[in-house]
Amino acid sequence: MFGAGLIKGLSLTFKVMFTRKITEQYPDERPFIDHRWRGSFQLDREACICCGMCVNACPNRAVVMEAAKSQDGRRVLTRYEIDFERCLVCGFCVEACPQGCLRFTREYELASYFREDVALDLLKNDNLDAPASKYAQRVPAREEEA
Ligand code: SF4
Ligand code: SF4
Repeated sequence: MFGAGLIKGLSLTFKVMFTRKITEQYPDERPFIDHRWRGSFQLDREACICCGMCVNACPNRAVVMEAAKSQDGRRVLTRYEIDFERCLVCGFCVEACPQGCLRFTREYELASYFREDVALDLLKNDNLDAPASKYAQRVPAREEEA
């Protein structure tokens, strides 16, 4: 029928006009970030036992960790870096950490101008002020149930 296409097109236009808008006016409007978001990393250095499980779990060798013995005999971190150029954000390192001290954050603006800024030195900046992600974090209530 003549004009059927036009009517169909207009009906679709009107339908879309009155549906809820999903476009976000970023950066004026900040998006909702899920609590399990995998953004950047943070490291609780005091809780780290230098076991190296995060290093072994990484499929892309993005985690570099070095440790030494302190005067009281404890092993302490002397280097802890994550190379974001190699990181797949798979989460294996976070899942492997027995202390739960390596965590994802809910940061999402991770672009940088310079290549040397891509690597994360978590010894110099543990990034503990960033909002932590709940990805792979142990829930105390569940541990009590087990
Ligand atoms: S998220 Fe995956 S690729 Fe990235 S450092 Fe951890 S284990 Fe390696
Ligand atoms: S797995 Fe956790 S405790 Fe072990 S070295 Fe990595 S961050 Fe430290």
